Amino acid sequence: MEVIPGIHQLRLPIPGSSLGVINAYLVRGEDGYLLVDTGWDAKDSFASLQQQLAELGVQLTDIKTILVTHIHPDHYGLAGRIKRLSGAEIVIHQMETSFIESRYHNWEGLIAQVAAWLRINGMPEQDLDRIARASLNLLDYVHLVYPDRTLSGGEIIEVGGFRFEVIWTPGHASGHICLYEPHKRVLLSGDHVLPGITPIVTLHLQNIGNPLADYVTALKAVSRLDVDIVLPAHEQIFYDLPKRVDEILCHHDVRMEHMLQAIGDTPRTAYEIARSIPWRAAVHDWNDLLDWEKKATIFETLAHLELMNGMKRIEKICRRGVVYYGPSSRSL
Ligand SMILES: [Zn+2]
Ligand SMILES: [Zn+2]
Repeated sequence: MEVIPGIHQLRLPIPGSSLGVINAYLVRGEDGYLLVDTGWDAKDSFASLQQQLAELGVQLTDIKTILVTHIHPDHYGLAGRIKRLSGAEIVIHQMETSFIESRYHNWEGLIAQVAAWLRINGMPEQDLDRIARASLNLLDYVHLVYPDRTLSGGEIIEVGGFRFEVIWTPGHASGHICLYEPHKRVLLSGDHVLPGITPIVTLHLQNIGNPLADYVTALKAVSRLDVDIVLPAHEQIFYDLPKRVDEILCHHDVRMEHMLQAIGDTPRTAYEIARSIPWRAAVHDWNDLLDWEKKATIFETLAHLELMNGMKRIEKICRRGVVYYGPSSRSL
């Protein structure tokens, strides 16, 4: 579907994911195409990509550049295969690039570090290894590849009649980028802003510091852009960016209130807090979550706790190698 003149949206299935579909975008240039995001390396995704390109009369070899908004498998997984068949240049933010090796190649070390990280955040010993390994099946959907060129934000990518500004939008991923075309007033938002789903923001070993603070800053920054149409990587195109940003900010405020209530007047670990707050309407008991969801909720909890710690709304305490978060005026 041509969503604006010169940009086609390719809806690619991501079988096995609750998201169902990723939107890749194909931008027509004079000497070839720019492909933004790729879907993951599964037979159905690749077949769908080939079919949609064929319907447009585009060959794989017409793709000159593949820009990956961030290295989550649904955005990056097929990039290596497409490059092998097309010779296209792959472009990724430098911070994402630095994680490719440890996440998708020599990953055993990262698993051990994740287990240690879960331990200091309160997870019981018997669950550590299982939860730390919970997302390993995603490796099947990634064709390992390194970028030909890295970005840091602020670059201009010219293709056809478009002059995209690369905007670094950390939070959902350390090196997440959006593409903004100020003259056409269009934003390719990746997973930074989605119309219905709230993009997950987690604190973990490849998203360190205060990622939710980074995310909020980056959200407010894109909200100020002059944008008529937002092309997200999931769900449908939307138009009112400031309204959607406000909704997402509100969601995080509610989450933080739930966590403050869970803490009450007693310091607790991220594991304990994650177990006691509502995550999804359909899931009343944390034990009913899948293992990868349990890991994600702990990392998401940590992102909120670190934001509140930075705001001095709560206090972080370390005791015997375990981290607790408590009311700001107390200590253990
Ligand atoms: Zn993502
Ligand atoms: Zn995604």
